[in-house]
Amino acid sequence: MSAIGPETFYRAVLGPVPAHASLSGNVKTDVCIVGGGFTGLSAALHLANIGAGPVLIEAETIGYGASGRNGGQIHTGFRQTQRELERWLGKTHARDLWNLSEDAKSLIRELVTRYGIGCALKSGLVIAADDRGAIRPLADDTEYLRAHYDYSAARMMDAAETARELGTEVYPAARFDSGGGHLQPLAFARGIAAAAEAAGAHLHEHTRAQRIETSERSVRVLYDRGIIDAEHVIIACDARAGLLVPELAPYIAHVESFMTATEPLPDEVYESVLPNDSAVADTRHVLDYFRKSEDRRMLFAGRETYLTVPRNVAAIVRPRMERVYPALKTVRTEYAWSGTVGITRTRMPHVGRLNARTVFAHGYSGQGVALANLGGKLLAEAVTGNAERFDALARVPAKPFPGGTWTRRPLVSAGLIWYKILDRF
Ligand SMILES: Cc1cc2nc3c(=O)[nH]c(=O)nc-3n(C[C@H](O)[C@H](O)[C@H](O)COP(=O)(O)OP(=O)(O)OC[C@H]3O[C@@H](n4cnc5c(N)ncnc54)[C@H](O)[C@@H]3O)c2cc1C
Repeated sequence: MSAIGPETFYRAVLGPVPAHASLSGNVKTDVCIVGGGFTGLSAALHLANIGAGPVLIEAETIGYGASGRNGGQIHTGFRQTQRELERWLGKTHARDLWNLSEDAKSLIRELVTRYGIGCALKSGLVIAADDRGAIRPLADDTEYLRAHYDYSAARMMDAAETARELGTEVYPAARFDSGGGHLQPLAFARGIAAAAEAAGAHLHEHTRAQRIETSERSVRVLYDRGIIDAEHVIIACDARAGLLVPELAPYIAHVESFMTATEPLPDEVYESVLPNDSAVADTRHVLDYFRKSEDRRMLFAGRETYLTVPRNVAAIVRPRMERVYPALKTVRTEYAWSGTVGITRTRMPHVGRLNARTVFAHGYSGQGVALANLGGKLLAEAVTGNAERFDALARVPAKPFPGGTWTRRPLVSAGLIWYKILDRF
């Protein structure tokens, strides 16, 4: 019998981790990658595929961070709408970014097919208007994508169609996006890791980078049991990047997001809830997101905290799930866990160079299932001298969060609580 505990449902169903030996001693490599989530693994795979044989070090286990514990939802575009990006960055740059975000979704499908990754990849993402006030902006954005970006995969659904698609009458309208979808994220991360290793990448778990030192001739990663001398270093630590490289700290904040998995749903409930097996996210800043698992459970997520993780995550998520699906009141929650989401002030990924030898990508702000895999590929392109697509993301101006080392966290928390208050009005 499963108990509610810190174990993620994904890890529990996949079974023991295929282990990768920890590293010890001093080594030399062309590229050292720090972080074994989607960003680092994708960078490792794409470098290995061109014969670079990178060394990747992960402080815990492959997919231990956000990549192995997220909602698995594949989103279209970015957290900022294309219209907002056009106003901010101009039409040409906004279009380049849109093209990248479309590449990100294609990359997932390409990798799953090419490497035969069994991660229950499915099409269909619904963005549900949380209240009537959210309908107009969602409909305008959907129409804008159709008219200006030729994106016809998304269309609006009225209340009746939304109720049929989701099996709940809570939402007054929604956008159905056949270009979005969902997958089992830890299975995907492990699949990419296996492909990277088969192509010649060296993956090491339980190996924590402690400091990075750069000289004119090389860059050194000092880790817990030795030193890695590299031509290039890729920092792929998402929410933790600022702990390793203090100069990145002002640009990356994090929130803890809560997820749960019920027991497998009884037949009558299973058929009525999400009958077409779409994934759903609502339009609030602090959103609910949910989908069904391959083994017929409801995976429901919602709420965030900025400081500490509560002991009983399930108790926080259940009322939100029962509001949307009263029929689930009689169904037990079997797994509850939390994960750290890296966010930026602009809600756009933070991608760039620390110096000529060190690049980074993080802060996908809740849309990293697609974007982090692309981020890793662009990092691989950048260190091999093909930085055109990388530069399109690196040119997005980053904005620091306010405050210094000690005051930033409470200030960021206050800002995020403000967004939560906005959701109530
Ligand atoms: C609960 C939750 C739900 C989410 N839902 C969705 C969703 O439905 N759709 C979506 O698009 N996005 C979602 N996200 C966001 C998405 O998961 C992330 O954007 C993405 O996984 C980031 O990948 P990453 O590789 O950059 O970071 P991570 O997966 O966090 O990987 C970073 C890795 O670096 C390692 N590391 C850190 N410091 C060091 C060090 N010093 N030395 C060695 N290793 C180190 C960490 O252990 C970690 O494994 C969600 C996130 C969470 C937490």
